[in-house]
Amino acid sequence: MADIINLLPEHVANQIAAGEVVQRPSSVVKELIENSIDAGSSLIQVLISDGGKKMIKVVDNGCGMSNNDARKSIKRHATSKIETASDLFSIKTKGFRGEALSSIAAVSQVDLKTRIKDNELAINLRVEGNSAKDEKFLLSPIGTSVSIHNLFYNIPARRKFLKSDSVELRHIIDEFHRVSISHPEIQFKFTHNSNELFDLKPAELKKRIIDIFGEKINEKLVPIKEKTSLANISGFILKPDFSKKTRINQFFFVNNRFIKSPFLNHSVLSSYEGLLKPNYKPGYFLFFKVDTDSIDVNIHPTKTEIKFENEQSLYAILKSTIKHSLGMFNISPSLDFNYNESFEPTYGKSKSGFNNPKIEVNSNFNPFENDDNQVYFKSNSNSNYNESFIEVESKSFPNSLNNLLDFKSSAIKLFQFMNKYIVSSVQSGILIIHQSRAHERILYENFLKRITQTNVSTQKLVIPIEYKINKNEKVFFSELSDVLTSCGFTIILKKEFLLEINGIPEKCPKENVKSIIDDIFESFQNKSSKINFSQSDIIAKSFAKKNAIKNNISLEISEQQKILDDLFSCKETLISPFNKKIFISVSNDELKKKFNL
Ligand code: ADP
Ligand code: MG
Repeated sequence: MADIINLLPEHVANQIAAGEVVQRPSSVVKELIENSIDAGSSLIQVLISDGGKKMIKVVDNGCGMSNNDARKSIKRHATSKIETASDLFSIKTKGFRGEALSSIAAVSQVDLKTRIKDNELAINLRVEGNSAKDEKFLLSPIGTSVSIHNLFYNIPARRKFLKSDSVELRHIIDEFHRVSISHPEIQFKFTHNSNELFDLKPAELKKRIIDIFGEKINEKLVPIKEKTSLANISGFILKPDFSKKTRINQFFFVNNRFIKSPFLNHSVLSSYEGLLKPNYKPGYFLFFKVDTDSIDVNIHPTKTEIKFENEQSLYAILKSTIKHSLGMFNISPSLDFNYNESFEPTYGKSKSGFNNPKIEVNSNFNPFENDDNQVYFKSNSNSNYNESFIEVESKSFPNSLNNLLDFKSSAIKLFQFMNKYIVSSVQSGILIIHQSRAHERILYENFLKRITQTNVSTQKLVIPIEYKINKNEKVFFSELSDVLTSCGFTIILKKEFLLEINGIPEKCPKENVKSIIDDIFESFQNKSSKINFSQSDIIAKSFAKKNAIKNNISLEISEQQKILDDLFSCKETLISPFNKKIFISVSNDELKKKFNL
């Protein structure tokens, strides 16, 4: 058989490598900024157009490149950062693989200008899909400017899979946060479509974090400092009450390189044990300094994964350091999340809510007797359920359910169990309904119905609520303000980083407004959610979650009845807006089976 193996032409090899290095505009931003950092820059400017799809430009005042180096820099495996394989174990720069510029050039149109101090003129190269298009010389300051136009212009399939400008911008901002936090000594500027979003002056780490995330993070920062022979650990953790449902505030840096480490994350998580609400994640900005020969960063082209030589010991050191800091700052004893989370009723505080439920049982009760005897259990109700909140009317139960359970409202007998479930007997069995999930479903549908079918009424606030925002949230606010208005909020940008809430949706308790807005911003920053929910859906969910009746609230029979009625006139009755089961049913047949009847 004839020889069949070919060596791939360089531009094909580059396109393949680009698949790993350049996933989306944010990867380009990361690589270009890292090159600027390696070039010793003290000012790095990032300019983005249309979420990076149209243009990404990074301008620095670093050392620049000689004319020949500039020509070489876009070739594959061209790097000034390592020479031999042994250098791989003493890497002090961000880059070393020599494949970023060549990969980027393989999938975009590049305009590179660079000048070293020995040259009077800068060289300007234009490259398209790896082949040089033009070379000229022009006046330019020392340093480098790289513009990337029309990313993936020659791979339509990849370009098609890019998300909306705002989603791509969020990814870019995430990368920008990571590099700018890891180098607070460098000044960074960031502009999107001519709007300056960040101008971060050289500063200490703490100031840099505040400049990025806003003043409100300041009081939540707990300093961390530990020196051991394996690693020096420094930075900040966030007090547990600033924890989020997403990982947006989690940053590990090893020798100033941002990395992802589920293993170290677990160590942090375990040191917060008992301090976090369920499903909440601690926030941290943790810097590790380790010997370069004790780690391997060359595991993946994006260099965000690292192999540590002494992983187990590092885990233990980190855990004890954080526990120590949490203890030293007296954080552990002062918090009582159980109280905050589950016992704080939405509609005024119930003292009885903190006691075990007391129930007087009517011993004559027969749940399967089909009479009109309504009150079987007398709860020691100190009720908190606000009826006015439930608006969905109609007692018409969906047919499917009618068939399934012979649901007839006249036949319903019900009682509350553990102040958490509503147990209802129906002709063909028993329903056990999770009260808080049922109410979430009702409020969610009700809210969506109101904003889609009618004009939402707004209640004007006599005393407006002020809400501080950071730069990130300011970006989201401009995207979101129309939807917030259509949902019944009147919110204006009062000062640069201050919102003023003048009106809120009708029947929304004022004390819940801040946490609803917190939640909305958080949902928008969480790009990890696979499904792309519409903006009003996110708002309806936050609204339902914050305002739904909680567990541990005792309900009057009439209130229990109302929840049942309203639930079964919802479009969806089985699962809550958060995909949780709302009720379980046990049919008469199942009961018979269990009793061997
Ligand atoms: P790597 O960073 O892994 O070496 P790159 O493809 O990112 O590979 O860059 C190739 C080379 O181009 C670098 O090693 C460096 O010498 C040069 N270079 C790239 N960007 C800059 C810059 N902004 N300033 C100075 N030199 C640069
Ligand atoms: Mg590089």
